Amino acid sequence: MNQASEYDAIVVGAGIAGLSAALYLSRQGLKTLVISKDLGGQLLMAGTIENYPGIKVTSGAELAMAIEDQVKTFGGEFRYGDVVNKIERLEDGRFMVSTEMGANYICEAVVLAFGKIPIKMGIEGEKEYDGRGVSYCSICDGPLFKGKVTAVVGKGIQGLDAVLHMAELSPKIYYVTPTKLFGEEELIDAVKSLDNVVIMEYHRPVKVLGDGSKVTGLLVEDIKNKVEKEIQVEGIFVELGYEAKTDFVKGLVELNEKNEIIINKIGETNVEGLFAAGDVTDIPYKQAVISAGEAVKAALSAFSYIQRRRGRKGAVLGDWRKTGKVKKEKPAFKLGL
Ligand SMILES: Cc1cc2nc3c(=O)[nH]c(=O)nc-3n(C[C@H](O)[C@H](O)[C@H](O)COP(=O)(O)OP(=O)(O)OC[C@H]3O[C@@H](n4cnc5c(N)ncnc54)[C@H](O)[C@@H]3O)c2cc1C
Repeated sequence: MNQASEYDAIVVGAGIAGLSAALYLSRQGLKTLVISKDLGGQLLMAGTIENYPGIKVTSGAELAMAIEDQVKTFGGEFRYGDVVNKIERLEDGRFMVSTEMGANYICEAVVLAFGKIPIKMGIEGEKEYDGRGVSYCSICDGPLFKGKVTAVVGKGIQGLDAVLHMAELSPKIYYVTPTKLFGEEELIDAVKSLDNVVIMEYHRPVKVLGDGSKVTGLLVEDIKNKVEKEIQVEGIFVELGYEAKTDFVKGLVELNEKNEIIINKIGETNVEGLFAAGDVTDIPYKQAVISAGEAVKAALSAFSYIQRRRGRKGAVLGDWRKTGKVKKEKPAFKLGL
């Protein structure tokens, strides 16, 4: 095993939740590391943001880079391009955080902020052509397919939005959707009114077709008649929703039926020292400003936890803890130590 570097706190994920948590942790003087696949997470897909308080309009990427810069001014460190795949509690109560690339880190508190990722089609050829015609973000990648025939595989408002967006760029779009169109009436009417959209209700994708280097088509099935049909497209936009990929923390923290991490009002999970925030948690209304605010709560709770662990009284929480309103102060189950 590689020698483990030591930190006070580790944040998993550099979306707006992870970045906001890192800002507060590092500003409190804690040696903080953020480990993330990428910088920005869903902010990159959001394109233009017009509802972040105090900022009239910004791009998700700009917002992420601005917070990253702010974190760095307080000494926060980043490790990008790696994925956390294991978190264990050590005998002394600290955590060992391990990554796919074989790095190990030890810390006193962890903030889980690894968000949600797009739901995949789960069909043959999808992985092979990911990034070579298969995309999970029409807002980000749509312009790359300007002038090309494309398909949107989606449902609900997300699918309809993607179709409307692609209709500006593609001469022809197939909308492959497993049910009848549903979502806002206005959006449905707008999609139905477009001449360049072929609506394929009650159809499901079966196989991504390609020439070895790029997508050339999509095999779809008419769910009602069980008839398969090939459509010739150069781009496939998957807009089926988002899911929390919490497999690696299953058995460590308590999850709800949607595999979201259950937290209390101050970002604590059921495990002492493990905090969570943002879209990966069971908090409703998945929005950037909510992720940021929840992350600040989790970071302050983590700071307070570290202070208490170190025997320092009067940490941030103040009266809140004395009121006994924190649901679970102790882990709800043993971690097999
Ligand atoms: C198309 C779209 C438009 C949107 N528009 C708006 C809008 O206008 N206004 C608004 O407020 N909100 C909007 N949202 C919602 C908002 O973007 C999200 O609620 C918010 O960005 C979630 O932030 P997060 O940090 O919790 O998670 P995420 O943004 O999902 O970030 C998670 C981070 O963790 C990383 N990660 C994942 N797993 C691991 C792992 N195992 N190890 C290491 N790193 C990992 C990811 O790479 C990512 O960097 C939009 C979302 C989408 C998809």
